[in-house]
Amino acid sequence: MYKIIDGKVISASVKERVKCEVEKLKQNGISVGLAVIIVGEDPASKVYVANKKKACEALGIISEEYALPENTTMQELLALIDTLNKKPTVNGILCQLPLPKHLDEQMVINAISPEKDVDAFHPANVGKIMQGDFDFVPCTPAGIMEMLDYEGIDIAGKTCVVIGRSNIVGKPMGMLLLHKNGTVTICHSKTQNLKEVCASADILVAAVGRPNFVTADMVKENAVVIDVGINRVDGKLVGDVNFDAVKDKCSAITPVPGGVGPMTIAMLMQNTVTAAKKQNKVI
Ligand code: NDP
Repeated sequence: MYKIIDGKVISASVKERVKCEVEKLKQNGISVGLAVIIVGEDPASKVYVANKKKACEALGIISEEYALPENTTMQELLALIDTLNKKPTVNGILCQLPLPKHLDEQMVINAISPEKDVDAFHPANVGKIMQGDFDFVPCTPAGIMEMLDYEGIDIAGKTCVVIGRSNIVGKPMGMLLLHKNGTVTICHSKTQNLKEVCASADILVAAVGRPNFVTADMVKENAVVIDVGINRVDGKLVGDVNFDAVKDKCSAITPVPGGVGPMTIAMLMQNTVTAAKKQNKVI
């Protein structure tokens, strides 16, 4: 019998923890602030930004939204980031990706002060993750680690397979599992024998961006399966894992929706509080 790893329940517990931390900081005269920059009119980005704002409000974090027009220049965007880097009431800065094509995403990421980089995309924070001594972790892999911890799933010595090698999910996910002493393989579109590699996993993380990509023959009996995918099929949200085909082989599995998705925003809130604490020398 498989267990559903419920992202709604676990994210609520993270948010409760963050709310208490924000409250404690407030009692010591410290406010927590997050600045979110959005450029252009991408509808999905607008929804993500609205959800982040709502989460901030619910937890007592002050959110500032900077909605810039599609034709914003690199110079204008960098000038705003510079202002926010220097603004003491802003503890975290997030620039919603993807940016319009004429803007250089890596240059934008590099411009955000590493101390305020709550997405953990800045090369300084990426380097710290490699070294295993980090303040922030990209929110989605951080959320997955939180889920595994909440469920008491031991990683040490386990065979862990991550499908996907993006900078925001696959690569940091692999590093975090490695730091917890998992034996990690990261797969991608050029991987040979993908089925066999996946079928060897005690913990399988799918971050591919292809609906129902993981099928029953790719899953080991009693594996833990984490589905990061968010795909829209006929207006319905579908993960990267064929849930119905796979679930009976798993010891635990995350659903879509209601799995990894809700964790991402919760971990952003956690990173913002961590940033505020570091900047105020509370930790
Ligand atoms: P990317 O498109 O950046 O990366 C996808 C990865 O999958 C790439 O490394 C690619 O390989 C690999 N891949 C593609 N096709 C295959 C294949 N046939 N076999 C093996 N590997 C393959 O996606 P992201 O990492 O940004 O996101 C992955 C999914 O997670 C998406 O559905 C996204 O929407 C979702 N997501 C969900 C979040 C959440 O909060 N739940 C947050 C972030 C993302 P290669 O490198 O060789 O091209």
